[in-house]
Amino acid sequence: MADNSAGKVLLVDDSAQVRAVIRDTLKDVFPVFVEADDGLTAIKAFVEERPGFIITDIEMPSINGYRFISTIRNMDDGRDVPIVMLSGNKDSLKKKLTGFNLGASDFLIKPFEREELLARVKSLLRMRHLMDELKEKNALLEKLAVTDDLTGLPNRRHFFETVREQLALGLRHNLKLACMLMDIDHFKAINDTWGHVAGDDVLRKIGALLASCKREGEILARFGGEEFIICLFNTDSENALRAAERFRALVKTYDFSSVYYPSIKVTVSIGLAVYPQGALISIDDLIKAADKAMYASKVAGRDRVTLHEWSAPPPATDKAPIIDK
Ligand code: GH3
Ligand code: MG
Ligand code: MG
Ligand code: MG
Repeated sequence: MADNSAGKVLLVDDSAQVRAVIRDTLKDVFPVFVEADDGLTAIKAFVEERPGFIITDIEMPSINGYRFISTIRNMDDGRDVPIVMLSGNKDSLKKKLTGFNLGASDFLIKPFEREELLARVKSLLRMRHLMDELKEKNALLEKLAVTDDLTGLPNRRHFFETVREQLALGLRHNLKLACMLMDIDHFKAINDTWGHVAGDDVLRKIGALLASCKREGEILARFGGEEFIICLFNTDSENALRAAERFRALVKTYDFSSVYYPSIKVTVSIGLAVYPQGALISIDDLIKAADKAMYASKVAGRDRVTLHEWSAPPPATDKAPIIDK
């Protein structure tokens, strides 16, 4: 529901007199009243006006109140909107039960006391407000669960979730997937020389740099302490090597000057593994291969990219690639 819908109420009743009483009773609660005198007009008004609250009669011409509320409850935007039903007192229990079964939030029998309508509406609005707060908090928690605190990048868990989604999208049949593991060189020395806060600053800057330079479709995450991972799809070794070189050069030439330390030079070692064609391995094995290649970059002097060479192609199996993290 859009934010500006909160103060808008939809009044549905074929009696103009009842609508006038409700409007007068709730004039201090809702700044905007949208009115309809039958169910069909009410559905149209709901779609066009997106009210945050509904009060509806049951007995009306064309579409009655029951059909109206079941239509609203079947819409994505109508699932949570509070709905108060009104009805005459004939067969009131049966009507109430039907209304609640269809998704009404509350029910009032006509004629009703104005104070009671006001109190019920306010109570529903309070509940709605609490629900909105809860939703916001849940969304925040969901985001925190997949975000690395320090860099704001997706975390390791998010990385695996996203890769899994990509694989499920059909990539598993012709996997052209490359995995790039990047580790900051002599990072401990930065911490030891300039302090942990300086180290954190470098991590944040590299995170932002990688995020701003990664291409669409590449999956980037902070993989651990001073390690970052990037997954590239539809990429052969040549293109993956080019991308890895681009990232390596980016870090090396970046101006890391900061209040925490003088202009220092930071380099990274990269290990690259390209999914072996004609074989099926797990994502975990692909990352292990990238890790080996990264280690080889370290041993060879750091600040370089190494492509993992598959010694013998892993045996083809009939198993689909498995993500074991
Ligand atoms: P190498 O070139 O071989 O990778 O050397 P290195 O010093 O980068 O590697 P090492 O594994 O010896 O040290 C990594 C350091 O990264 C140690 C650890 O304290 C530091 N580190 C890990 N996470 C964080 C972090 O979030 N903030 C800071 N400031 N330091 C971190
Ligand atoms: Mg009526
Ligand atoms: Mg490391
Ligand atoms: Mg390191």
